[in-house]
Amino acid sequence: MQDIILFGMQGSGKGTQARILAEKLGYKIFETGGQLRRLASEDSDLGREVKEITTAGKLVSNEIVMKIVANFLENFGKNEHAIFDGIPRSESQRVSLEEEFAKVERKPLAVYISLTREEALNRLLGRKTCAKCGKIFGAKDDSQNLQSCPACGGELKIRADDTREAIETRLNVYENETVPAIEKYREEGRLIEIEGIKGVEEVNAEIVAKLGE
Ligand SMILES: [Zn+2]
Repeated sequence: MQDIILFGMQGSGKGTQARILAEKLGYKIFETGGQLRRLASEDSDLGREVKEITTAGKLVSNEIVMKIVANFLENFGKNEHAIFDGIPRSESQRVSLEEEFAKVERKPLAVYISLTREEALNRLLGRKTCAKCGKIFGAKDDSQNLQSCPACGGELKIRADDTREAIETRLNVYENETVPAIEKYREEGRLIEIEGIKGVEEVNAEIVAKLGE
């Protein structure tokens, strides 16, 4: 078993895959937002530092993010394994992250759930969220024809940040900032690439098979 850095642009189903892998194979998920919330409630130096930043609504610097990673890794058993979800976001962050891994002698494998821009746009445009239970309905789920949530009857809404312009901007950021980090792992022979256009189950089976587990 090996630590995983999970990459995938919005719409690739990355978060879902992280949850399934954690459930099936016992990985812990490192997700910066979750770690920030955990630390902010903790009575420690780092906890107080994080709380101050998040309460003030400030952006968390790369330096702090790396402190959080170091804190997570320090408290991590040799036989435990993690999925790093949503980090690194850029090539420079990848470099600092790899420094932290090297300190604890870990060398994660990168898993990239790839999607073409067109596929991502098709999935994200027309996506609706239930205002009541939060369930997301993709364009593929025929959500266009649904008036209310089949699970709870709540109202289905298109998120304000799901306009074509906002989606294009997020995809651009991913292509310009994150893809160079992914390419670095490919060069190093540490990348597993899975086509995200396939269904959730198929993508998951392929990841598990390629991990050799
Ligand atoms: Zn609902």
